[in-house]
Amino acid sequence: MGFVQRTKSCGELRAEHESQQVSLNGWAHKVRDLGGVMFIDLRDRTGLVQLTLDPVSFPNRAEIRNESCLSVTGIVKVRAEETKNPKMATGDIEIVVTSYSVLGAAKPLPFPVSDEEQMESVNEELRIRHRYLDLRRPSMYRRMAIRGAALRRIRAFLDEQQFLEVETPIITKSTPEGARDYLVAYRLNPGFWYALPQSPQQYKQLLMVAGIERYYQIARCFRDESSRADRQPEFTQLDMEMSFVTQEDILQLTEGLMIDVVNGLIEEFGLEKDPVEPFERMTYDEAMYFYGCDKPDLRFGLRLFDVTEAVNTCEFGVFKNTIEAGGMIRGVRYPGGSKLSRKEIGQLEEFCREFGGKGMASIAVETPGPDAPAGGYVSPKGLTVRSSIAKFFTEAELDTILDAASAEEGDLLCLVADSYTTANNVLYRLRLEIGNRCGLRDPRKLKYCWILDFPLVEWDAESGRWSPSHHPFTMPKEEDLIYLDTDPGRIRADCYDMVVNGMECASGSIRIHRSEIQARIFTLLGIDEKTQQERFGHMLEAFAYGAPPHGGIAPGIDRLVMILTDTENIREVIAFPKIGSGYDPMMDAPSTVDAQQWAELGLRLSN
Ligand code: ASP
Repeated sequence: MGFVQRTKSCGELRAEHESQQVSLNGWAHKVRDLGGVMFIDLRDRTGLVQLTLDPVSFPNRAEIRNESCLSVTGIVKVRAEETKNPKMATGDIEIVVTSYSVLGAAKPLPFPVSDEEQMESVNEELRIRHRYLDLRRPSMYRRMAIRGAALRRIRAFLDEQQFLEVETPIITKSTPEGARDYLVAYRLNPGFWYALPQSPQQYKQLLMVAGIERYYQIARCFRDESSRADRQPEFTQLDMEMSFVTQEDILQLTEGLMIDVVNGLIEEFGLEKDPVEPFERMTYDEAMYFYGCDKPDLRFGLRLFDVTEAVNTCEFGVFKNTIEAGGMIRGVRYPGGSKLSRKEIGQLEEFCREFGGKGMASIAVETPGPDAPAGGYVSPKGLTVRSSIAKFFTEAELDTILDAASAEEGDLLCLVADSYTTANNVLYRLRLEIGNRCGLRDPRKLKYCWILDFPLVEWDAESGRWSPSHHPFTMPKEEDLIYLDTDPGRIRADCYDMVVNGMECASGSIRIHRSEIQARIFTLLGIDEKTQQERFGHMLEAFAYGAPPHGGIAPGIDRLVMILTDTENIREVIAFPKIGSGYDPMMDAPSTVDAQQWAELGLRLSN
């Protein structure tokens, strides 16, 4: 069917177009038929404009329903002052329709596409089943537009820096990033399988051996992991690799890229975010010590403090026993927490138990009131304390605790006695909870930081082996190689994470480029020589042909868009996501295949 092509876009029409004849193409966002006149908000990707239709001239308009696709021609008219709509960019005008055609009539809708408020309570599976309708919503279009613009800006920046975009295979051999593989059966040799890449890690390193020097790819990664709000079976990374670079070169380039891209997007889309500033840096050990985790939210302070030394000889049994057993007494300040009721403090204790702690002790910090007992404890800064455990401490011990905590009037000092690891894990969560309660996690702020010097390997009690903190291709720090045979847990790696507002959003490292070191690391990871050859023989061989020193990083694109659009659900920033168990309700995938396909692949279910 022919149609009249648009001469203007809906969102661009203004009073200056008065009296012009325009043709528009789009969808009926909202239809109101008042009998005497019909109002339609017509929507295209640029915005909305109001149409008016005189029912006398168009008696046959039953097909114009919400979300019908229309082509209209009409005259731009400036609205009477009292009917102008300041909430609409095009609200000063309307289009008096002279002719129209319905290009595609819409059936009754599964959900109210035009009503953002009602859409919030629509079942997500239903939205994803009809994603082609869900994506028509201006709010969804905007997310897709921000995503597309992020990719455009990334490409422009890296182009300028002489990077080459190279595509690597999707059906390939497993490349380990710590998750399960998706497998693809090989028809020509039943029993043989391809794996979908968990990342292009090996290929990008081989591209460095191949002399590409500066590679990037907007790469899809596939990981068969249990699903979470921030995970999808397939997701997108900006995958990068460079030759002849130091860690410092990679950090600087990536930081420059992120600042350029994010600040550009903030401006382009008028996002309610402060511009990104140069990144902070800290080592893994510092992050664990001060924030209890390797992905600290630096939008606020409230660093953890440690009073193990200060209370070493105190009379409080719980603390004494913990310290004797090799544990620590660590804590976090809760500004304003001194006012919490007993019950509320009980809830905080419960919160700590939920994350594996044994409990929580607390000290309220106050200034002595007019009826404070004479001779009661007052710190050199004029503070006093209220706590059921205060009686176990000497004044000197209390002074040290207040100092270590940088305590201020009104604080509740929350103390946890446990192993370093458990205390950190509990306090990491508690600090975030306090940050939330005190309104310190400001959505306007984007606080990026680098976490450096990760351990090369971690002990995995379950498998009784060392496992890589990142992946097996990471270069150990040269000065730590001496621990390879004696104390591998001490080896630090040239490995870094980029963290923003408490979320890990990129990982990278300098890679091993020498076969003998790579083989030693495989051996440390419990991969015997035969398996090394089978799984990674191509890497070991390639490194024997003059491999350059190289390194890289892979910032997550989905995470970036989530942060910029203040969404906590990764599905909201992906055009066609999977739900819960990896299911796509629109395509109905995964699905069964016909018997002939099973037969061709030589496959049969065993039960
Ligand atoms: N391949 C790594 C990952 O997916 C990133 C990298 O080391 O560049 O996390």
